[in-house]
Amino acid sequence: MAEVRLDQLRKEFAGNVAVEDLNLIIEDREFLTLVGPSGCGKTTTLRMVCGLEKSTSGSIRFDDVPVGHLPANRRDVAMVFQSYALYPHKTVAQNLGFALKMMRVPKPEISRRVAEVAESLGIANLLERRPKQLSGGQRQRVALGRAIIRDAGAYLLDEPLSNLDAQLRSGMRAELKRLHADLRRTFIYVTHDQVEAMTMSDRIAVMKDGVLQQCASPTEVYERPATMFVAAFMGSPAMNFLTGELRSVGGERRFMNAAVDRPAPVGSADPAGREVVLGVRPEHVRVSDVPTGTSVPARLFVAEPLGSEVLLTLELGGELIKAKVPAPFDAKPDTPLHLTLAADRLHLFDPAADGRSL
Ligand code: ATP
Repeated sequence: MAEVRLDQLRKEFAGNVAVEDLNLIIEDREFLTLVGPSGCGKTTTLRMVCGLEKSTSGSIRFDDVPVGHLPANRRDVAMVFQSYALYPHKTVAQNLGFALKMMRVPKPEISRRVAEVAESLGIANLLERRPKQLSGGQRQRVALGRAIIRDAGAYLLDEPLSNLDAQLRSGMRAELKRLHADLRRTFIYVTHDQVEAMTMSDRIAVMKDGVLQQCASPTEVYERPATMFVAAFMGSPAMNFLTGELRSVGGERRFMNAAVDRPAPVGSADPAGREVVLGVRPEHVRVSDVPTGTSVPARLFVAEPLGSEVLLTLELGGELIKAKVPAPFDAKPDTPLHLTLAADRLHLFDPAADGRSL
């Protein structure tokens, strides 16, 4: 194992739908991340895969074998929880070796595997300590070690980095990605953090209100978001949205509103006259102090230096729009500026169809 296949998987809690008819294939050795805001059904999905929650309907197959009826301990999966769930009175070595002990693995073999896993996670010097004598990051490594010491077909990780501070989190992101490459096993990872999803995953499944919005590679999700929700959720700061109308002018399709009048993105073959939303990421808004070809006038609201870049908030026709430009950028609030929306990086959405991409 393990390809994990979810068919029409559904979970209701007292009539409330937590996961709605989810179809998803997680390929063997893939790093797939379920991402979305709090309450969108990520954890419930993971708990159904590992057998801690029973689905209302639909099926779960590991390598084409139905497992929905099997208890968690017979599913060939290992799970890492956000809360670490370490045994407080056991040492790190005992915590790491516990699952193997339960499986009646011989003692010398347990010692060998504990040493190996501790070495690979950089905690070999902590084996005799107890959880309360460890930092948050060290505890997290032990929790990871406890999962990977088992030879499971799939590793399920539920927000394993969310209790760590920002610096530790970014270090552990790189380590997890490396661990996946070394273990060559299926990883299903749950997070609400789009940076974790973007940086580690082979594919990202974006969920909203129990419904899968898009499942694709990080590049695809960023460059071709299927819905306004995905466009806004993936990317920081979020994509700018401008509401306007699609009009046909001299055979050309144009996006128009009070402030912007420009050719609509290629592929927007929909009838003219309808309301649409134009999306552009802050990194694709160019800013100049003189008008250029297709630029539109705006005014600087505020500039926030980020180090190598500066985040600008600008007023455009009564709305605020963000632009990310290279540092340094010196201008006072209310300075008149000119914005160019990168023609090949524009997105068009249909607000009447749940924000679907056009
Ligand atoms: P978070 O990031 O906050 O953990 P999540 O995306 O993992 O959120 P779930 O925990 O899967 O979301 O919850 C999905 C929905 O199901 C939520 O509306 C939640 O309130 C509901 N839910 C989850 N578990 C239960 C339960 N045991 N009983 C009733 N409702 C539940």
